[in-house]
Amino acid sequence: MPERERRWNGWGVAGERLSVPDAARAFLTERLGSGDPLPAVPEAEVKLPAPRPLPPLPLPAATDDASRLRHACGSSLPDLIALRTGTVAAYPDAVCAPDTPEQVVELLCAAAAGGVTVIPRGGGTSVTGGVTVSAVDRPVVVLSLERLRGIVALDRGSQLARVRAGTLGPELEAALAPHGLRLGHEPQSFEFSSVGGWVATRSAGQRSTGVGKVDDLVAGLEVATETGLWRLAAQPASAAGPELRRLLIGSEGRLGVITEATLRLRPLPECEDGLAVLLPGWAAGVDVCRALLQNGVPVETMRLADPEETRFGMTLVALSPLAARASRMLFSRRRYRSGCLLLLGWAGTTQGMTLAEQTAARHWRAAGGFAVGRAGWRRWRADRFRHPYLRDELLTAGWGVDTLETAAPWSGLEAVYGGVREALQRAAASLGTRVVVGCHLSHAYRDGASLYFTFLWPLARGREVAQWGALKGAANDALLAAGGTLSHHHGVGTIHAPYLEREVGRTGVAALAALAHALDPAGVLNPGVLLLRTTDHGPRTTGGGEG
Ligand SMILES: Cc1cc2nc3c(=O)[nH]c(=O)nc-3n(C[C@H](O)[C@H](O)[C@H](O)COP(=O)(O)OP(=O)(O)OC[C@H]3O[C@@H](n4cnc5c(N)ncnc54)[C@H](O)[C@@H]3O)c2cc1C
Repeated sequence: MPERERRWNGWGVAGERLSVPDAARAFLTERLGSGDPLPAVPEAEVKLPAPRPLPPLPLPAATDDASRLRHACGSSLPDLIALRTGTVAAYPDAVCAPDTPEQVVELLCAAAAGGVTVIPRGGGTSVTGGVTVSAVDRPVVVLSLERLRGIVALDRGSQLARVRAGTLGPELEAALAPHGLRLGHEPQSFEFSSVGGWVATRSAGQRSTGVGKVDDLVAGLEVATETGLWRLAAQPASAAGPELRRLLIGSEGRLGVITEATLRLRPLPECEDGLAVLLPGWAAGVDVCRALLQNGVPVETMRLADPEETRFGMTLVALSPLAARASRMLFSRRRYRSGCLLLLGWAGTTQGMTLAEQTAARHWRAAGGFAVGRAGWRRWRADRFRHPYLRDELLTAGWGVDTLETAAPWSGLEAVYGGVREALQRAAASLGTRVVVGCHLSHAYRDGASLYFTFLWPLARGREVAQWGALKGAANDALLAAGGTLSHHHGVGTIHAPYLEREVGRTGVAALAALAHALDPAGVLNPGVLLLRTTDHGPRTTGGGEG
């Protein structure tokens, strides 16, 4: 698969963009006013400090400015702001890309002996500061997994594939398809994120309601540590002590470098499709989602947008004048003034899909909903990996945008939904600004669901990161106070690390720290990610998001 050049200071492929539709600009101008545009400095103007000297390393190390710049940051909003404004806090001193798992071990040993910090990096799409280089007094090497790619072995009978950690989403699915198999794990970052990154962060895909999070798709692992390669072979289930694979899933590069994952596959579906349903309100929509899950209706993709996200989402879709008029009329009808759009996707046999849709229809009709057709679903499917390009365009236009996600049991979902929205509004007011907060229920389970919030605000020049930190910190505090999890799928990184103790307790943090010490005694890997550095202060209770 040909490699496409990534944009160094924004999302996706260099040269690709998605402009903000006029209707969306009008919506944001009306709701937020205009902000200060955030132009992007040209690469030639970014001046890097000279790399620090490194001890001898067992493989070539790139120390040129372009490599160091492209491996300094991930994809969080503060990362993006730093790249655009030429204010990156720290750069790696070198980038190494091993060809084999054994070379990863050798690099870790050399780093431990030579006092070097190592940051494992897959696709670099972390939104939690997981690959952001921070100023440390030791040399920093980014260990790029870009050359550890491809399928090592396929066990068709067991529907298992051993996959190298640096393999990206599209190449994995392209390699599986000729065998009539798929993984079906499709985070929105699918095109640029890696198998190892998914496992390290416990990611979720857009089909996760049906196929499960990556946690459910990992059957076995190979992890490089200073002491060698640690192989946990694939097993369908086991009672051989605690589940060590699960400890490594979500370890965010603190416990070792994942070099290979054995993944659970499923047959390619005979067909797939979906449709959009309009429901009269958020509570009705949540009830429908819960009923579908608890009644075992086999939905693969489920996304329920709240009224705000439904309205903003409509402005992003280029509707024909007739369709735009029809939707305005619909939304002005009393019953659907707070309408919520639910996208439902199925995959399987034609017969199975028809049955699932008919069963689902009984639930949405009982809640006052009606199907608005397949076009909305298909449109979303076609554009879903392009939407992230909007973030760059919005920044250029003067609006900040970020997302955060959580999960809670059904009984606690409303408290989290209300708490986060209110906290963001309060934080914006205390900043003397305004915020638009949209939310969608993005993955559902029998016992609860994930909520994914998007918030937008007008940027104030020079205060972009401070504004973001105040909003993000308030939202984090609110979701934890309301009983939500710190993260359903983005992980902890450095941005959420100060909050982890509030979720897992002091004992949990101590257990993780002991494990990290056992597997990485020299403290080489990802300091500050997942667990605070010993020099960092304890968990913040307010406004702690600034990364
Ligand atoms: C536009 C956009 C959309 C996104 N959509 C989703 C989504 O739908 N669902 C979702 O779950 N997430 C999403 N994310 C977040 C991100 O894509 C995921 O966290 C993804 O799993 C990261 O994979 P990566 O290969 O890019 O990892 P990286 O960003 O390179 O690394 C993430 C963390 O894992 C560690 N790491 C990476 N590889 C390894 C390895 N082999 N061994 C040990 N540690 C490793 C890194 O050190 C870092 O701490 C999105 C991000 C963006 C920017």
